[in-house]
Amino acid sequence: MDPRGKERFAKLLHHRAAMLEKGEPIAPPLVSATTYHLPETEGASHSYGRVSMPTWEAVETQLGILEDAPCVAFPSGMAAISAALMAVLTDRKRLIIPADGYYVTRVFSADFLAAYGVEVIALPTHEMETADLSGGAVVFLETPSNPGLDCCDIALLAQRVRTAGGLLIVDNTTMTALLQRPLDLGADMVVAADTKAPAGHSDILFGHVATRDAALEERVRNWRKLSGAVPGAFEAWLLHRGIETLEVRLERMCASAQIIAERLAAHPAVSNVRYPGLADDPSHELARRQMSGFGFLIGFEMASEDAAETFLSACPLMTQTTSFGGTHTAGERRARWGDNVAPGFIRLSVGVEPVEPLWTAISAALD
Ligand SMILES: *Cc1c(COP(=O)(O)O)cnc(C)c1O
Repeated sequence: MDPRGKERFAKLLHHRAAMLEKGEPIAPPLVSATTYHLPETEGASHSYGRVSMPTWEAVETQLGILEDAPCVAFPSGMAAISAALMAVLTDRKRLIIPADGYYVTRVFSADFLAAYGVEVIALPTHEMETADLSGGAVVFLETPSNPGLDCCDIALLAQRVRTAGGLLIVDNTTMTALLQRPLDLGADMVVAADTKAPAGHSDILFGHVATRDAALEERVRNWRKLSGAVPGAFEAWLLHRGIETLEVRLERMCASAQIIAERLAAHPAVSNVRYPGLADDPSHELARRQMSGFGFLIGFEMASEDAAETFLSACPLMTQTTSFGGTHTAGERRARWGDNVAPGFIRLSVGVEPVEPLWTAISAALD
C-alpha cells in the first residue's frame, strides 16, 4: 500500500474527532429518522430521509477521505453502478462494457439501457485499451476483471477516452481505493460495491460513486433523490464500522493471497492460476505499476466440475458463497452462474484466517 494511502487511512480513523462536542460518541450515532424539525424550510441541515440522513453523511465523509473525492452512497453496488450509468447516458448513447466483468452490469445494460436506446457493446477487458472509442462513448471498465482477473491500463484508457470525447467509469470493487486509484489515473467516476471488502463481514449490501467532477456528482445525487435508491441508516452505520478495519484486513488478505497463489501454482491438481502478484501472470507488470497491492482474489482451474466441487466441499476453512471480500475465505465454481470460464474454474476470495492453517486445509482438500 502506498504511503499516501496509509496517511489517508489514519486520517479516516479520526475523521469525526474535529466536529465532536464534549461528551459526544466517538462512533457515529445510528439515525434513521425520515422527518426533521422544520418550522421553516431555510437553513435546516436535514429535511426528509430520501434527501439526506446523518448516518449516510458519516459514511460518505469516511469514503470521501478514502477516495480523496466526493462520494455518493447507495444501497448496493448495483444501485451505484446504475446511478452512474443513468447519470451519463442522457447525452451519450454508446456504452462499452466488459464482456468478462461482473455479469449483472451486463444484464442491466442489455435488459434496461439497450431498451432505452443505448447502444451496448461488450468487449473483453484485455481489448479495452485498443477499442474503437469514436463517437464519445461511455466506457465502463473493471480491472482486474471479475472473475478472470485480467487487467487494463487505466491511465492509457482514460487518455484515449478523453481524446475521443467520452467518459470513463471504473468499477473498483475488486481493489478498493486503498489498492488502486482510478480517479488519480484519469477516470471520471469510480463505482464500487462496498458490500465486498469495505463492509467486509458478509452482512450488508452497500455501494458508492466517487467523482471529482462537481456536475457529475450533482447529477448522481439527484438520481438518488429522485429515483429513491437510498441506503438504509443501519447499513451505513455497519459500513462505517467495517471500513475502520479495512486496511488491516486487506493487508492480511493480500499477504495470504500471495502465499496461497504461489503454492496453488506449484500444486499438481491445479492449473492456470491467475493472480496479478505472480511474476509470470500476464497482468503482473501492469498490476505492479497501477496497483499498490495485488488483491485477495485468485482464479484457478481444476480438471473438471466434479474435481472442483469435491475440493470446495472438502475444505473446512472455505465457505461456498457467491460473494468475496469477507473475513472468511470463500470459494466458488463460477461456471455455475454461466460465467464464460472452464467448468473446473474456481474463484477464491482469501479471508483473514492465519495463512498456515488455511493452506493446510486447502492442500489437504486438494489432495
Ligand atoms: C458484487 C459486485 C457488484 C455489485 O454489488 P452489489 O452490492 O451486489 O449490488 C458490482 N461490481 C462488482 C465487480 C462486484 O463484484
